[in-house]
Amino acid sequence: MDQVKIGRFIAECRKRENLTQMQLAEKLSITDRAVSKWETGKSLPDSSIMLDLCAVLKISVNDLLSGEIITMEYYDKELENNLLEMVKAKEQADKRLLSLEVFVGITVTVILFVLIAVAAFLQMADWLRVTLIALGFVIFLAGCFYALRIEQVAGYYECKECGHKYVPTYKAVNLAPHMGRIRYMRCPKCNKKSWQKKVLSKE
Ligand SMILES: [Zn+2]
Repeated sequence: MDQVKIGRFIAECRKRENLTQMQLAEKLSITDRAVSKWETGKSLPDSSIMLDLCAVLKISVNDLLSGEIITMEYYDKELENNLLEMVKAKEQADKRLLSLEVFVGITVTVILFVLIAVAAFLQMADWLRVTLIALGFVIFLAGCFYALRIEQVAGYYECKECGHKYVPTYKAVNLAPHMGRIRYMRCPKCNKKSWQKKVLSKE
């Protein structure tokens, strides 16, 4: 997807509707900075806002993602390409997120051990010792919550029993026993419990 082209197209459609960046932002309950970022090609509209944006600009999602009005003749072909690219983009983003999860996990664990070692072996006042250890645990817990959140939203879990692929709730992920990234959860489709592995693609 060509972000710059899409950005220019958004600006074009906005002007055609006689809207300022501020007015468009207000209609979508977002900041005008976000609109400016789209139009300069720095970011793409979030999928959650795409439908509203397209409704305001009186274009289809397919037009938006192509960065131009698609004539009926090429509509299906373009739609297919755009959907494929979106799926690919999500897979890549999920892959990056899962690497980030490992990085966050390792980093907070190292910080925790360093702070404990410093508190245990260096000369200092007792309150400082306690503060350092507490700080270590707070950072560690925050890191774990963040990593778990990534684990929930990135990719899908695949049910071993029926093959159903889904995004579980944060609570389900949190409470499930796990070995690495394989989690023991109840499948929302067949309702059976199994060890479910993480997959990046729904296909
Ligand atoms: Zn199942």
